[in-house]
Amino acid sequence: MKESGMSKKELSKELEKRLLDDLRYNSGKIIGSMCTSPNTFAKKVYANFLEKNLGDPGLFPGAAQLEKEVIQMMGKLLSHPEAVGNIVTGGTEANLLALEAFRHRKMECTSTSSHGEVVVPSSAHCSLDKAARLLGLKIIKTPLTRKFKADVEAMKQAITSKTIAVVGIAGTTSLGLVDPIREISELAMENNLFFHVDAAFGGFVLPFLRELGYKIPDFDFRVPGVSSITIDPHKMGLAPIPSGGILFRDSDSQKAITWEVPYLAGGRTLQTTLTGTRSGSSVIAVWALLQHLGREGYRNIVRRCMTLTQKFAADIRGISGLDLVVEPVTNVVGIKSTNIQVEKIAMELRKRGWAVSLFPNHMRIVVMPHVQRVHLEQLLRDLELVVKELGS
Ligand code: PLP
Repeated sequence: MKESGMSKKELSKELEKRLLDDLRYNSGKIIGSMCTSPNTFAKKVYANFLEKNLGDPGLFPGAAQLEKEVIQMMGKLLSHPEAVGNIVTGGTEANLLALEAFRHRKMECTSTSSHGEVVVPSSAHCSLDKAARLLGLKIIKTPLTRKFKADVEAMKQAITSKTIAVVGIAGTTSLGLVDPIREISELAMENNLFFHVDAAFGGFVLPFLRELGYKIPDFDFRVPGVSSITIDPHKMGLAPIPSGGILFRDSDSQKAITWEVPYLAGGRTLQTTLTGTRSGSSVIAVWALLQHLGREGYRNIVRRCMTLTQKFAADIRGISGLDLVVEPVTNVVGIKSTNIQVEKIAMELRKRGWAVSLFPNHMRIVVMPHVQRVHLEQLLRDLELVVKELGS
């Protein structure tokens, strides 16, 4: 830090220069991310309420009430308006809170401190590994079916006396697929286990695809064994970062992650998030955005993304040397090659400025709301050129 400060004008210029290399969503080059440019109205709302701290909700009862309403709206979207939960920093915190709730409940039930196990399909997001390490839990990863979904039989085999919870994914990170949530739910109920559904990505896609007439398997609280769901407004919800969401079916799970903070200016507080001080503006922006877009607004966004996704997927099939890993179920396209290492293709695309996402055997394109038809057409042209060059 310098002794005397710089002028705002000087700093604005400096920031422009310093951030020049950051990619912009409107360039269309970010085609491998699950985040997008937040809704313009939501950004304005967010910027207006930066001082709100929901770590001390006694000071901000209005914002705290809006959080309750947001949770109720998201609960309704996921077939359970009575759900309890919080807006948190993202899917990572949401997944961690779910596992912590279940670890704590199981520990209390069995009066042990032994480290439990959590059975997850190997497509699970790495945030579950992080959570497990922090919580002293052991993650047991089970293989997928040939269709890249959770193999319920393999999960069944992995359950032991130490298992506390199972996880299913509704909108997998790598391919956007939905695990057989009903079957996993049966497994969980038969074995008296908690069941967390990670719908960080799918939570703001699948309900609307269903309303649009797509065949979407049940994945939310209408499935009786589902104990909790992660649903992130800062992905397909179009909310400003940070805004993740954790919803629990019942208050017992939330009680298990309740920390009492006695000293706060707003009075004795029961916090149910990992963070103490936390963004009230995230909550207010999500509340305003859900009211502003309504189900119809989200349906239109999802319809557009899905239409573009299906056209893009068909065009990929038309390029010799490329193929889809699987037919897209959401706005995520997995691309593999029949004759070239996919990593080489991804590197060539990155050289051309495309921010593509790379997995061990495929590239991932996420057709987020900022992605337009022209961007995908340009990408297809570059893909065709790259595949021709590398294949010759
Ligand atoms: N869960 C799933 C299925 C995800 O795809 C992601 C991120 O893409 C996360 C959790 C983690 O979310 P975040 O990056 O918001 O912490």
